[in-house]
Amino acid sequence: MSKIAIVTGASKGIGRACALRLAKDGMTVIVNYSRSDEAANKAVEEIKAAGGSAAAYKADVSDPEQVKTMFKDIADQYGTVDVLVNNAGIVKDEYLLMLTSETLDKCLDLNIKGYLYCAQQAVLKMFRQKSGVIVNMSSVSAKMALAGQSVYSATKGAVNSMTQTMAKELARYGIRVNAVAPGFVMTEMVDQLPEDKKKEYLKAVPMGRFADVSEVADLVSFLCSDESKYITGQSIVLDGGLSL
Ligand code: NAP
Repeated sequence: MSKIAIVTGASKGIGRACALRLAKDGMTVIVNYSRSDEAANKAVEEIKAAGGSAAAYKADVSDPEQVKTMFKDIADQYGTVDVLVNNAGIVKDEYLLMLTSETLDKCLDLNIKGYLYCAQQAVLKMFRQKSGVIVNMSSVSAKMALAGQSVYSATKGAVNSMTQTMAKELARYGIRVNAVAPGFVMTEMVDQLPEDKKKEYLKAVPMGRFADVSEVADLVSFLCSDESKYITGQSIVLDGGLSL
């Protein structure tokens, strides 16, 4: 039987690429998203056209009730959850003195609380079967100081910390937890940056280019596979040398 994977924020960008890749690896993939119906359905169609199995599920993962309902519906339909990719996240650059409580709440609610809500629900299914994998999407911003990203980088630092703690707590149940920390990846998130910022960031990458989403998906695929079965609690940087 194929494994059941949930990828949050999979209608676009990195999450979409992870969904496509895990489906190619033979998993049945739940494409979670919160607003973009058309994009999510397109991702599902693309997976099915390639011979894979997928379904879209609309839920705001920063809302604990919606998360509970999503995991219950998925468990009712598919029996379990084997893989969770906690990916849905937002970046909202604001210098400290311009920071609003609205931005702060949005970032903490999605980038931190959302990851914990989903992990909690996934683990409730995984620990009974004594196996499971969680991959948390972090960022190189957790370790690199970028002006304007005090909130974003704090949320990604929290992702790295929760990855370690969860890994330690859950190892005894056969559940592995790792994080992927990309540098700049070509998605809407990066595309929306002002041109001068993009040029400046590009100059800072020793490999001279931003990552393709498929390169992040390759690493996620590895961390979800048995090839990484002795790796847990790690945050693996994938940044073309940006943080060196
Ligand atoms: P993106 O292109 O903006 O896509 C974000 C995805 O998250 C969309 O599918 C969006 O779907 C979904 N989403 C947003 N809010 C949601 C919510 N409340 N509930 C469920 N889904 C939600 O983002 P991305 O660049 O691929 O980034 C994905 C992850 O990688 C984030 O955690 C980000 O911090 C991290 N990351 C990105 C980069 C980069 O350079 N792009 C670098 C390092 C780390 P809807 O439109 O339907 O809401």
